[in-house]
Amino acid sequence: MHIATGYRGRFAPSPTGPLHFGSLVAATGSFLDARHQHGEWLLRIEDVDTPREVPGATADILTTLERLGMTWDGPVSYQSKRTHLYEAALEQLQQQGHVYDCSCTRKELAGSTAYPGTCREGLPEGRSPRSLRVRVGDAAIDMPDRLQPAVHQQLAVDIGDFIIRRTDKLFAYQLAVVVDDGEQQINNVVRGVDLLESTPRQIYLQQLLGLPAPAYLHLPIAVDAGNAKLSKQTFAQRIDMDDLNSAIIDALRFLGQPLPDTPQDASREELWQWAIEHWDIRSIPTGRELPAPARYTASPATP
Ligand code: GLU
Repeated sequence: MHIATGYRGRFAPSPTGPLHFGSLVAATGSFLDARHQHGEWLLRIEDVDTPREVPGATADILTTLERLGMTWDGPVSYQSKRTHLYEAALEQLQQQGHVYDCSCTRKELAGSTAYPGTCREGLPEGRSPRSLRVRVGDAAIDMPDRLQPAVHQQLAVDIGDFIIRRTDKLFAYQLAVVVDDGEQQINNVVRGVDLLESTPRQIYLQQLLGLPAPAYLHLPIAVDAGNAKLSKQTFAQRIDMDDLNSAIIDALRFLGQPLPDTPQDASREELWQWAIEHWDIRSIPTGRELPAPARYTASPATP
């Protein structure tokens, strides 16, 4: 197998809607960090959670990235076509004795921060298996981040045994992302800070599966006036396809990056060229959340 030696990063959007400012920031940060280091930048559509997929969203995201001039390396990969890899990983974990059946419903677990271990030693009498969980044992994970303060999690206390295959038989994001990053030899992950607390679980799975841990950089996330993360649920606006230069400029500003003197006059290519050259993670504002420019947040229902 070819082993990647240089920087290999990725952007991994979920096709739950068109690209909004929040996803543009993640795309921009991962793209610039990769290109600044003359690295590869892969595109992976995270459509493992099929019920959440919005028809047409994948095509929409791909077109937007193309029109933005963000070119990715190699073919686009789709989690929906990679089930065999997740199955193989599950089998490996099962053979190692790390996996058990769980019958607990979400309702039964409401209120507990960490999974209480109800099904760890076997299903309670009369109950049927629903999901599959991985045992975390006494794993303690220390995770450095290139931007955020280091994270320490005692998985048993902070999370508990966690789901790797859901009740609907779909593989959980945590497993899919680890298998994909491993198989695609991603050695640098740049994404939103909302995934910071998921990362120790991912590192734990990497350890069980014998996969190397990538370096992580968690970017501040864009929030609206009510401090909610931009998303479909908060009516985040799709970025304006007729003014993509402004969207790029806003994303660069959000990430604290310098701009050329008259950025609006630059072509898209010139803007990216400039941004790749000047990318500096020390200029990214610290903190987890930053307000997005208002025009990306307003709901169509809001007067
Ligand atoms: N698919 C995830 C999202 O759109 C990102 C996962 C990742 O970058 O690890 O939020």
